[in-house]
Amino acid sequence: MKKITYHDKVRDYVIKQTHGRCGYCGKTLQNNSEWHLDHANPRPRPKYNGMANELIIPACVRCNIQKGHRNIEQYREYLKGKRNVDSITFYLDLCTLFPVPDIFPSRNNG
Ligand SMILES: [Zn+2]
Repeated sequence: MKKITYHDKVRDYVIKQTHGRCGYCGKTLQNNSEWHLDHANPRPRPKYNGMANELIIPACVRCNIQKGHRNIEQYREYLKGKRNVDSITFYLDLCTLFPVPDIFPSRNNG
């Protein structure tokens, strides 16, 4: 039986908030290889990988790569310029998002 990891719990938590869709483009995400956990507001520390109390967005591979290390508003501005439009609506704008609770043990020790 596959052990349920911290990452599995976080994935399960965040994907429910966007009803199984990419938080940016709204694409339906059908299997785990199709999407990543995206820090909505990435930290400058390169090795920081904590997720408790962070806003984590399920992002399809394409959106995740395109967003890179931008935060949500920087990504919005980037797309406005790229598409030459006045506003960008993300799927997450239609959702109610909560930061990852810190009740999940961050390591497999509890
Ligand atoms: Zn997407």
